[in-house]
Amino acid sequence: MQINTRKATGKVYDAVIVGSGAAGGMAAYVMANAGLDVLVLEAGPQLDLYNDFKTHVWPYEEKYRGRIAPRDAHNYKYGFADGYTTHIYARLDENPYSTPNGKPFDWVRARAVGGRTLVWGRVSLRLSDYDFKAASFDGYGDDWPISYADLKPYYDEVDRLIGVMGTYENLPQLPDGVFQKAQPLLCGEQILKAGVEKTGRRLIPTRAGVTSEKGKLPASVQKHRASCHYCGTCGRGCDVGAMFNSPVALLEPAKATGKLTVRADAVAREVLIDLKTGKARGVAFIDRKTKLEYEALGKIVVLGASTLESTRIMLNSKSRLHPNGLANSSGVLGHYLHDHTWGVSFTGFASKLKNREIVNEDGRPQGTYIPAFRNLDKASRQQKYIRRFGYQCSSGAGIFPGHAKLLPGFGAEFKREVKAWHPAMIRMSGFGEVLARRENHVAIDPKLKDAWGIPSLKIDITYGDNERELTNDVIECAHEMFHAAGIELISENREMFPPGHSIHEVGTARMGNDPKTSVLNKWNQAHDVKNLLVVDGSCFVSSGCVNPTITILALAMRASQYAVEQYKREEI
Ligand SMILES: Cc1cc2nc3c(=O)[nH]c(=O)nc-3n(C[C@H](O)[C@H](O)[C@H](O)COP(=O)(O)OP(=O)(O)OC[C@H]3O[C@@H](n4cnc5c(N)ncnc54)[C@H](O)[C@@H]3O)c2cc1C
Ligand code: SF4
Repeated sequence: MQINTRKATGKVYDAVIVGSGAAGGMAAYVMANAGLDVLVLEAGPQLDLYNDFKTHVWPYEEKYRGRIAPRDAHNYKYGFADGYTTHIYARLDENPYSTPNGKPFDWVRARAVGGRTLVWGRVSLRLSDYDFKAASFDGYGDDWPISYADLKPYYDEVDRLIGVMGTYENLPQLPDGVFQKAQPLLCGEQILKAGVEKTGRRLIPTRAGVTSEKGKLPASVQKHRASCHYCGTCGRGCDVGAMFNSPVALLEPAKATGKLTVRADAVAREVLIDLKTGKARGVAFIDRKTKLEYEALGKIVVLGASTLESTRIMLNSKSRLHPNGLANSSGVLGHYLHDHTWGVSFTGFASKLKNREIVNEDGRPQGTYIPAFRNLDKASRQQKYIRRFGYQCSSGAGIFPGHAKLLPGFGAEFKREVKAWHPAMIRMSGFGEVLARRENHVAIDPKLKDAWGIPSLKIDITYGDNERELTNDVIECAHEMFHAAGIELISENREMFPPGHSIHEVGTARMGNDPKTSVLNKWNQAHDVKNLLVVDGSCFVSSGCVNPTITILALAMRASQYAVEQYKREEI
């Protein structure tokens, strides 16, 4: 698309933020509360936070019984969107990307105010110094320029602000937070826990970004939230705001300051640079519906459009000062893409629970977690691979008896068996660290553009021997723990999903102390452009084996507070 006209939005904001998910939402919350005049540009539409979710809709109320219309299914091919959520996820026909032959990457994106936080899985686990200082521990890659002690105060503040259900466990590899009440374990989980503990490992309630005690949230956010009522359909979006999402917990409270404007349907194309000062002066964006192009001007520019979208914007922001993409004097921008291995999973049967009365057990925002137990010390050190993995587990009778397809038979006898097995099913799946390797990278695909004429990404990543060896151990340890618990393994998947499928992609604009080997400094500020912050997962140096969002929130809070101080002292 040829863009001939550009209209300035008029006002010069203190900060222009791209993206309204976890990262952009947190930057907006911090900056608006500090008194800055803030504009958020969000590519997707504004949803009604309490009426546009189909949290409690029954399949029979939907045309395709909760599935995507068959003619549209190819646009959402990664299996996370369903008939209840297509209005939240990005469409592939509008948002294409490419991968080299034989190297698939499943890029799971949301396009709406709130981003993927509208539908995220809520698992909220902290990184530890095993992760921040991983290179010192095993010699591979680079340490982060910060330690757990640097981030702990921000993790604590995030927990208090969003509400995290959890239990205190005192595990150095999975630091405790500031928790609200967790749910008790189900029968199946108790059985699995007993087996896991026989092997010397731990099983704990999964820490989840959900408020169970709304009264513990700051007064300013309470009116947008409700305590969880345990309906268990969080993946469709929570229509009472119990589960953390950026709009209810961050954007709405930030709007109440009178300092935040959110412009939905604004697709950012590039960051604009003042060629005289070298500073960022704003963002060029395209209206999603009219396709007219505008400029939003700001004294600070914050990218929080998600790891790969922020990197794409920077790669597309070429100028005389930044011929290889914005803030890319190191040549590192786009490199070191990594995520988590996922896909290897196990379904077991606890015979003790067969024929037990069926009660509502799926009214839970999360299940249980087995924290990392390998490569923590000399005794647990592995010869074949470095780094760690953990397992997410669940059990109990859900709304649909998914195990029916694993059982033989038909007719009344078959139905009786399905019912008898229903409370006795136990599931585990492993998430493992993927090493940050320079060759795993993204670049602009010169032949591909999105629906707004913006050049798209080519994503080039494969897993290596370390991921394969780690996965072999995920399988072996799962068998061992099921066996110790007396759980019969009835089905398993031994193959990893393609990269990207864990939805934990991070690392393409990493932070570091050395501008020659990193894009950002330890405050998420670009080494090359001091009034440019990148606050999403692109800053990660490594990602441990735990889900990234709580860390993204803590880093975005820390970076934004720092930028506000710098701005008020006129240092950026
Ligand atoms: C089904 C699912 C389950 C998940 N489960 C978990 C979990 O249990 N735990 C966990 O830690 N994480 C989980 N995640 C991942 C989590 O959602 C992300 O880590 C988190 O949302 C990242 O925050 P972000 O702000 O970087 O990106 P997003 O939340 O994706 O927000 C980015 C926003 O930027 C907007 N944007 C993109 N490009 C542009 C542009 N050019 N111009 C303007 N706006 C733009 C997007 O529309 C989007 O709204 C899950 C994700 C999904 C989809
Ligand atoms: S279980 Fe709780 S967090 Fe999940 S949708 Fe229901 S009320 Fe919301």
